[in-house]
Amino acid sequence: MVDINVASFFIVGLLILGLCVTAFRDLKLQSRFHNYWRWSLVFFFIGQFCFGIAAFVDKKVLIVANTMVVMSALALGLLVRTWHTTLTRRLEWWLWGLSLLVPVIYTLVDHYGSYHHRVFFVTSLFVALSVWRFVELTKAHRQEPSFTLKLLMGLSLIHAVLSLLRIIIVWATSDSANRFIYDDPIWVWLNRWGITAAYVLTYVAINEHYAHKVWQQEKQSLEAQLANQKLIDQLASEVNETHQLNQNLALVLAEKNKLLTSLSSSMKSARMGAMASTLAHEINQPLSAIRLNAEMVQRELGASDLALVKTNLNYLIEDVDRIDHIVNKIRKFFYNDYSDFKDLSLATLMDSTFDYVQEGCKKNGIDLMVNIDPSLHIYGDKGQLQMVVFNLINNAMDALADQGGQRFITVSAERLHDQINLIVQDNGPGIGPELKSQIFDLFRTTKPDGMGVGLWLSRAVMENHRGHLNFSNVPSGGARFVMQFPLPK
Ligand code: ADP
Repeated sequence: MVDINVASFFIVGLLILGLCVTAFRDLKLQSRFHNYWRWSLVFFFIGQFCFGIAAFVDKKVLIVANTMVVMSALALGLLVRTWHTTLTRRLEWWLWGLSLLVPVIYTLVDHYGSYHHRVFFVTSLFVALSVWRFVELTKAHRQEPSFTLKLLMGLSLIHAVLSLLRIIIVWATSDSANRFIYDDPIWVWLNRWGITAAYVLTYVAINEHYAHKVWQQEKQSLEAQLANQKLIDQLASEVNETHQLNQNLALVLAEKNKLLTSLSSSMKSARMGAMASTLAHEINQPLSAIRLNAEMVQRELGASDLALVKTNLNYLIEDVDRIDHIVNKIRKFFYNDYSDFKDLSLATLMDSTFDYVQEGCKKNGIDLMVNIDPSLHIYGDKGQLQMVVFNLINNAMDALADQGGQRFITVSAERLHDQINLIVQDNGPGIGPELKSQIFDLFRTTKPDGMGVGLWLSRAVMENHRGHLNFSNVPSGGARFVMQFPLPK
């Protein structure tokens, strides 16, 4: 029987050692309270080991064995208490302090009493600790019900009942007075191993309890990761959508800008149209009056012989008709009348303007140099464009008026990839910085007898031709005006 007892102690010891390894390797649940789980296992392992070796070494080792087993039950009680409340330092100190009395009392009982006194002392402590554990487990279960807690409650009760039974059996056995734990008969042994089994199962269930907690934590962190991933995916798709929306917005904004530009230019044209209409009306009235008066004078002079007066009056009427023609042209221009638009060679356009400006240049000692490739054609109104070229050359002549040294104006043309340019350049003083931003404004002039209409009208003509009129200063001195035309279709 001794061998069986000793062997069983070592077997249980090894089993507990296995659980110890698991408990110490599990670093995820490091905490002061969780350490009670480790200490309980260590105490129980030492206890079982001491029970085993006491048979060979010395029976006094049983003092250590019993103390360790009681301390392991105490640690277990404290551990389960942490599952529903916070441990106070005071309680811990008290319990561990009292546990130090166990070896003292056990030695006294061993000295003065017999085996059943020792069994009574140690086992009644077990009963008390099992009942305490049961109470703490009930509270923990009330807070957070679980099957493991129920199982642990059941095991605590079994442990308490079997321990009580052990006291009764040992006390009831008459020959128990002077024997040792190793001499227990088979049914006492069975009862003791029932107690141990309940205890070991308690450890296994606690292990499961922690494993479940770890699993739950990992599940929660996985769920959180999944939720995060979902959030990231959602954010990414929202970013994509925003990007798409931004692109659409950029398109819409570009479209809006185009609309605004065209609206403003059409408003400008509408304004200009209204202005031209008023202008034409204002000029037409005195013109009609002049014509009527001239006709009347002509009629009244019909009988007389004043041939010269008649001729002059005819000239007057012709001039009025010419002005009328010009006014009508202006009106047409502002109402975007394209009926006079034709395919035009730039060289021809310049040739027809040349006659008007050549004289003035000569008189002022200005070299007028024209260099235009005859193959360059544009689509436009010859009369309107002549007016622009004429105006640009006239301005250049004015700019060169007070200039000393060699003076020249060049008129050239070039073809770029999507436009044709007609360039009028002079070597005068160029455009002053104060004028740069206002040069195309209506009535902006620096000349005492100027009107400030030429460039404003020229730009309007170019825009009417779907082109532009730009200017820049030439680094070597002088101004350069560029009439930009789109390529003819
Ligand atoms: P105006 O000739 O009646 O002044 P414009 O609109 O034709 O009206 O010209 C506006 C102003 O631009 C001119 O008064 C002049 O100061 C300036 N300007 C135009 N062309 C040139 C040029 N080639 N060099 C220097 N200044 C110029």
